Amino acid sequence: MEKKKCCSCKKLLPYSEYHKCKTHSDGFSSKCKKCTHNYRVRYYRKHRETAINNTRKWQLDNPNKTRDYKSKCKSKRRKLGFNKLKENDWYEPIDWHHVNDNDVVPLPRYLHRMTQTGDTSKHRRLTNRLIKILYDNE
Ligand SMILES: [Zn+2]
Repeated sequence: MEKKKCCSCKKLLPYSEYHKCKTHSDGFSSKCKKCTHNYRVRYYRKHRETAINNTRKWQLDNPNKTRDYKSKCKSKRRKLGFNKLKENDWYEPIDWHHVNDNDVVPLPRYLHRMTQTGDTSKHRRLTNRLIKILYDNE
């Protein structure tokens, strides 16, 4: 496999360890993924205020996009049950329970624990009843 030397950590790494970057002649970034991540974290820490201000400025300049983005996030959170979390004032630690492949709901950990048995089908039955009690009383 072809390898490339990272300009930051000087390690010889396979191309899969580099982000794609159109401005570079070989199409890959000169820093490896790990170094890029570290750089971004450091940059954010150092320029936190600027980064936050830039985001705010962008939000003010793009009110429509900001609104769309926020409402998308909101419906995503709602789908995950965060609104229930808020309404019920659950300050207890929560567990995430998969209702099916796409949906996850938060359950207070102490309640979720009570449904946990060695028998998975029984656990599922009890958890489903718990979800019904917590989420279906609208
Ligand atoms: Zn590196």
